[in-house]
Order: sequence, then C-alpha cells, then structure tokens
Amino acid sequence: MFSPISKIFLNGRSFYVKRDDLIDPFLAGNKYRKLYTLLQIQSDKFNKIISYGGTQSNAMLAIAAMCKNKNWEFTYYTKPLSATQKNENYGNYYHAKNLGMIHVEIQEKFYKDFIATLRFNLDEKTFIIDQGGAVAQAKKGLEVLADEIRNSGLHVNSLATPSGTGTTALFLALSLPEYKVYTTPCVGDSVYLKEQMEALHEIPKNLVILEPEKKYHFAKPYKEFLDIHQKLLKSGVEFDMIYAPSLWKCLLEQTDEEILYIHSGGVSGNESMLSRYKQKGFL
Ligand SMILES: *Cc1c(COP(=O)(O)O)cnc(C)c1O
Repeated sequence: MFSPISKIFLNGRSFYVKRDDLIDPFLAGNKYRKLYTLLQIQSDKFNKIISYGGTQSNAMLAIAAMCKNKNWEFTYYTKPLSATQKNENYGNYYHAKNLGMIHVEIQEKFYKDFIATLRFNLDEKTFIIDQGGAVAQAKKGLEVLADEIRNSGLHVNSLATPSGTGTTALFLALSLPEYKVYTTPCVGDSVYLKEQMEALHEIPKNLVILEPEKKYHFAKPYKEFLDIHQKLLKSGVEFDMIYAPSLWKCLLEQTDEEILYIHSGGVSGNESMLSRYKQKGFL
C-alpha cells in the first residue's frame, strides 16, 4: 500500500507530509510499518498474539486490527484500568475491545514479574510483541517506507518523524543515509532515547535528535501542544496529539529547510486526548 504525500503551509513555510495515517483507520502510521512483516505472514503460521503495555496505546489498537484481519486471538496485559476508561465508548481501548482484544489486568505489584515470564513455555503458534509494537522485524517495513520516499520524486533532503522507542526514526535513518532524519524524544529525554536506539543499532550520523526547549511529560496535555495541533488541523492535516506536537514545535523553532514529515498515525487516540484537554479547561 503506497501512501500519498500532501503539501501544507505552516508559519509561512511549506512542508510535505507522507500520509501513513491514511493507510487504515486503526492499523496505520508507523505501527503499520512496524507490523509489516507480521502482516505478510500466512494466517495459519500463528493462532495467538500476546502483547502488553498502556491502555491508550496506538500499538495495542494496531495489533488488535491486525489480529482481527488474520483471525488470530489477541491477549493484551496491562496494569489495572480505571472504571472511567473501561466505560468510555471512544478511544483506542474501546476500539481494540471491539476488534476482539482479550484484555487482562495484572495487579501493579505483580506486573513486572508477570511480563518477564510471558516468554516461558510459549508454544510455536503464539507470538509475543513487546510494548509499543517493538518487533525486531520492524526494519523490513521501514525499508518499504524508505523505498516509497526515494521513489516519490520529491526534492527534499530532510525527513522528520517523532520518537517513542526510537525504532521508527532509527530504521528510517539507516534505510535512507542520503537524507537527514529529524526526530525528538516524546518519552523521556534524549539520553533515554539514545539508549533505546543504541540497544537496536549504532546511531547513524544522518539522524538528528532535536531537543525540546522545555521538558514535557509523556501524554500530558499542554496548551502549546493544543495550539500547534489546531494550527496543523487548519492547514489541512490531523495529527496525533501526543507525539506530533512536540516534533512540530522543534521543527518550527530549530529548522528552516523544506522537510517531508512522516505522519506516524495515532489519530484514533485524539478523542481521548481531547476529553483530557476539556477536563483541564483548555478547551
Ligand atoms: C508509536 C508512535 C510513535 C513512536 O514510534 P517509535 O517507533 O516507538 O519511536 C510516534 N508517533 C505515533 C503517533 C505513535 O503511535
């Protein structure tokens, strides 16, 4: 599936956006790229996928959509969930449950040990995906994206995509050494991001980590993030409200060239974030 490229105008500058958000309502963005290899596998190779992590996670929803499509059972382990979230009829958790996800809550004090034992006694038809959709096979899917970018005919030298684990930005930079790849840490700081990346591969020189001017906590509402989100909406593209605002802010403040921004998806989580912005009185 070849995603299109849009052109947008922001603060008097033009940017291109690789629309990986349009691939599928639930299985899109970098989670589609990261799950690419699994998506190519024949359905009968597995009958069950196991994963774990947060209950607002975009990876959780993408895996749920993949399993529905493949007819694989999907069990997802999390720490206990609030009653409010359980009853919400919107957001990633709600949609993942509707796609057939089996959700299992593990008590906070047992959680870490429980996750560590998930890989014991696995049968060959069960596959585990680590938190955030971190699969070693992510490389292949990002090479496919790299080919699409190379063949797009666009004359830009810089790309940008936000980081959680850094898997996407790292493999993209490795697959496209002729481009500069900008990213910014959205979970933790640059030191943490570099550690995560180095565990996968040596960081190439063309990967540029932009440092936000202020420290932001992951997935918390910030007025300046909402402002950027709304500006981007007006320019014609909806981005996720957790990762994208931080990188756009850095790009506007710290770069001046024409950039192709790789949309990393996650728009399905915006309803939950908007309701949190409302609770905080920002909307
Ligand atoms: C998961 C996610 C990211 C982070 O991807 P990593 O490969 O973990 O760095 C960025 N943006 C969105 C919207 C995501 O869902």
